[in-house]
Amino acid sequence: MTLICLVAIAMTSLLFSPTSVSAHFFPSIASTPSGLNDITGPWDSFRNLSGFHAGDKSDGLPKLKHYLQHFGYLSNSKSNHTEDFDDSLKAAIETYQKNFNLNVSGELDPQTVHQIMRSRCGVPDIINGSTTMNAGKATPSYNGTNFHSVSHYSFVSGMPRWPNNKWDLTYAFRPENQLSNDVKSVFSLAFDRWSSVTVITFSQTESFYDSDIQTGFFVGDHGDDSPFDGLQGRLAHANPPTSGKLHVDDDEHWVVSGDVTAASSAFAVDLESVAVHEIGHLLGLGHSSEIDAIMYPSHPVRTRKVELTKDDISGIQELYGANPTYNGSSSTTPPAQNVGETSSSSAQKSGSPWSLKFNFGLGLLLLRMLL
Ligand SMILES: [Zn+2]
Ligand SMILES: [Zn+2]
Repeated sequence: MTLICLVAIAMTSLLFSPTSVSAHFFPSIASTPSGLNDITGPWDSFRNLSGFHAGDKSDGLPKLKHYLQHFGYLSNSKSNHTEDFDDSLKAAIETYQKNFNLNVSGELDPQTVHQIMRSRCGVPDIINGSTTMNAGKATPSYNGTNFHSVSHYSFVSGMPRWPNNKWDLTYAFRPENQLSNDVKSVFSLAFDRWSSVTVITFSQTESFYDSDIQTGFFVGDHGDDSPFDGLQGRLAHANPPTSGKLHVDDDEHWVVSGDVTAASSAFAVDLESVAVHEIGHLLGLGHSSEIDAIMYPSHPVRTRKVELTKDDISGIQELYGANPTYNGSSSTTPPAQNVGETSSSSAQKSGSPWSLKFNFGLGLLLLRMLL
């Protein structure tokens, strides 16, 4: 009888617990559903390459070369990569190390491997041989890479911007995702952070296919040659102007509200942090080597970074100019009432995939414990 009661309580909590994704509900990492901690990210195997250097050979190197090719560090001309740690790989790693403020050794030292394994934005760091990261700021004598334009730095080299008559942008959400208002409000806050410092404005519209910015959650290969890769790895990507595509990996454990640093999932990713970054791409910004900048490419789990830095602000203002109301502060926190509405309500409903996955997993865990 007691057992039946306990099961009933567990089922009731599964069915009626608030589905808002919030650390308030999942405060302890110990409550992560069993099995999740065994999941490996798509780049975890790079750990085995630690210590490799030029002249070595490994069957793990073709995958690393594919990674470096995707992010712009190796030429796109090759489709079959060898297992050799050759000179072009060494040069690519040197450029990568320069961009990520690492010791430029050209070797796969532990710090470099650790950085490569981190979850990050799917947008390449180097596009058409051009980068706004450190390697793009090299002196003319720098010749550590294959990329012909590394010594011709200009802030948005090759990056288009929205034309002057198109600075009041509309955005909409992919109807199939059926996103909750909670999730949509996270993007609204993220858009506000940029419009508070520059002249671009954003307004939500229901007309997805007519909107300037189209935001959607996708899984795996979704038809744009930039497939997502499950939990971790590539978190999201967005196109430069005037494409307006902002794609988010539906497989991540997105945290919509609450303290992501206290979230119960070891893989929790703060949605607003990633949204602010991707909107930077939508507006024409590339990646930055400033680790505190929003436009820094990687975003570790269980961290929150939503404040535009001077680096981000000077970049966007160089593209479009400053918002007349911008007071020069690097703080871009939206008005207090907006923040409160989003983060403090425990009665919110969320249709986000992670909340559903988590509650299902939590229910199974409870049932397993009880039975
Ligand atoms: Zn990015
Ligand atoms: Zn995509």
